[in-house]
Amino acid sequence: MKPEYLRIDPTACAGHGICAELLPEMIKLDEWGYPILDQAPVSPPLRQHAQRAVSFCPTLALSFRADPATGRPPPCPRSSPGSATPTAAQRK
Ligand code: SF4
Repeated sequence: MKPEYLRIDPTACAGHGICAELLPEMIKLDEWGYPILDQAPVSPPLRQHAQRAVSFCPTLALSFRADPATGRPPPCPRSSPGSATPTAAQRK
């Protein structure tokens, strides 16, 4: 399994702080109540808590990323090359 990282969209984050309450091991709040993320990959024991923090973010600002440098999301399990949408010729 590839490492996953957390990412915050700063334009969407409203500083509710719910994420820091649900995942204090990886998210701290700054003096204005906005989150500061741990830049390390999400460790397997924290994965479920991280998923809860992502799910409960009211503005959808918190998400998982496969690569912190590019900001790309983790690959969708249904988007593997073998499961690509069939072409019109293949559907006939
Ligand atoms: S829960 Fe979402 S909106 Fe609230 S501080 Fe965390 S990332 Fe920002």
